[in-house]
Amino acid sequence: MTASEIRKQFLEFFQSKGHQVVPSAPIVLKNDPTLLFTNAGMNQFKDYFLGNKVPQYKRVTDTQKCLRVSGKHNDLEEVGIDTYHHTMFEMLGNWSFGDYFKKEAIAWSWELLTEVYKIPGDRLYVTIFEGDAAEKLDKDQEAFDYWKQHIDEKRILMGNKKDNFWEMGETGPCGPCSEIHVDCRTDAERAAVDGASLVNKDHPQVIEIWNNVFMQFNRMKDKSLQPLPAKHVDTGMGLERLVRVLQGKQSNYDTDLFQTLIKAAEKYCHKKYGQAEKTDIAFRVIADHIRAICFTIADGQLPSNTGAGYVVRRILRRAVRYYFSFLDVKEPLLHELVPVLAKQFEEVFPELFEQADFVKKVVYEEENSFLRTLESGIRRMEEVMANTTDKIIEGRTAFELYDTFGFPYDLTTLIATENGLKVDELGFEAALKEQKDRSRAATELDMGDWQVLQDAGSSFIGYEQLTSPAQVTKYRTIK
Ligand code: ATP
Ligand code: MG
Ligand code: MG
Ligand code: MG
Repeated sequence: MTASEIRKQFLEFFQSKGHQVVPSAPIVLKNDPTLLFTNAGMNQFKDYFLGNKVPQYKRVTDTQKCLRVSGKHNDLEEVGIDTYHHTMFEMLGNWSFGDYFKKEAIAWSWELLTEVYKIPGDRLYVTIFEGDAAEKLDKDQEAFDYWKQHIDEKRILMGNKKDNFWEMGETGPCGPCSEIHVDCRTDAERAAVDGASLVNKDHPQVIEIWNNVFMQFNRMKDKSLQPLPAKHVDTGMGLERLVRVLQGKQSNYDTDLFQTLIKAAEKYCHKKYGQAEKTDIAFRVIADHIRAICFTIADGQLPSNTGAGYVVRRILRRAVRYYFSFLDVKEPLLHELVPVLAKQFEEVFPELFEQADFVKKVVYEEENSFLRTLESGIRRMEEVMANTTDKIIEGRTAFELYDTFGFPYDLTTLIATENGLKVDELGFEAALKEQKDRSRAATELDMGDWQVLQDAGSSFIGYEQLTSPAQVTKYRTIK
C-alpha cells in the first residue's frame, strides 16, 4: 500500500464514522503569540476546546502539516539520527467536539488499525494514564475498561502524568491520553525477550504511532482541575510512522514518502543511500529538511534573519552543511528536490505544486549564497591551516572566520579536527566576548546552523540558545 492510499483510508474510515474531512491548516502560524509553527493537529481547533468558537461540525478528520523544531516540541536532535522523528510530518487526526468520547475513540482506533490496516493485535501496546496522587487524579479506569474489550490486559501499560496527561498550556482544557505503540521487532527478537511489554523508550523498533487525548478537565488559574461541561476527543497519528509499519520497513526513510526524495538526491552526489551510517544520516537529513523548507515557504514563510523565517533559514543551512560535509556536494542540491516533492504531494497539498517554481528559486538563492560563504571560509581556513606551526588555530583566527566569513565555530573545529589541528576555544570565547561588549548588535549571533555531535549523552538545547562554542561543542559528532 502506498502512503497516499494509507492516508486516504484513514480519512475515509473516519468519514464513514460521521466525520467531516477538513483541510490542513497552514504549517506557519500567523497571529499566534504562543507558537511559530503548527506542531499538532489540534492547533487549528484550539478555540473550539476553549469555548471561544462554536464548531461547524462536531466530528472532523484531517491530515495536518506539522513542524517540531522549536519550543515545547523540538525533535531536531533526533532527525536523521533516529528513524522516526521528523522536522515536518503529517499528523492524521480525528476529533470530537463535545460529541463522542472514550468508548468510540478507542473502538475506532482499534478497528482501523486491526481491521482496515490489518496490524496484528499482538503487535500493539496501549498506554493509559496511571493517575497522580498530587493532582488527586485516579487512574483512567474508563479507558482501561474500554481497551480491555479489544486487547489483552497484559498489553495495556500504565503511563505517568508526563506521558499520559495532556495539557494545552498553563490553563485550559486537559485530560488523560492513551497512546498506541507498535512492536516492529522481528519474531526472533520478540521470542528472545519472551514477549515482555515494551514502549518506544525501550526499543527502537517499538514505536509510538497514535495518541488519543480525552479532554475532560479545565485547568484553572489556581491550578485546580474542574470537570469540563463538554468533553472532547483529540487524536494524532504520525502518517510517516504508520506507513513504515504498514510497508513493513525498519525506518520511516525506507517508505515511499522518503525514498522518492533520497533517490532523487542520489543523482546529484557520487554516493548511494545504505552504504555508510555517516552518509546515510546526511541523506536522511536532506530528505527530511527539504519537506520542512518547502512546506513552510509554500505557506508564506520565507527564510529570513528573524523569527519563523530564521528557523527556516537554519533548517535549510543545516541541510546544506550535511551534504557539503558528508556527501561531498559543493553545488546547490536542495532546490533540485523541490519539483520532486511538489509532484509527490500534488494531490494532498497542492499549494506547494502551484508555487513550485517560486519555492525552487528561493531555495536555490539561499543555498547558493550560503555555499559561497562556506567556500570563502574554507579557503581562508586552508590558508590558516597551512601557516600554522603548532597545530593550533588561534582563537582570534577562529573568530575572524566566524565574524568576517559567517563561518560557524563548530564548523571550524570540525575541519580543524579532520586535519589534525585544535582550535583555541578560550581565545575564541574571549574574542567573542570583546566583540559583544563592543556592540549590542553582536548579540544576534548566528551559530545555530551547525550541529557538531560529540557527546552521545547530551541533548540538543535548541537553536535559540546556542551562543557560545562551549555550548556548541556539547553535541555529538557524527562518526
Ligand atoms: P514521541 O514520543 O515519539 O516523540 P510524541 O509523544 O511527542 O511522540 P504526540 O505529541 O503524542 O507525539 O503526537 C502524536 C503523534 O504524532 C505521535 O504518536 C507520532 O506518531 C507523531 N509524531 C510526533 N512527533 C513526531 C515527529 N517528530 N516526527 C514524526 N511523527 C511524529
Ligand atoms: Mg515527542
Ligand atoms: Mg510520546
Ligand atoms: Mg504521544
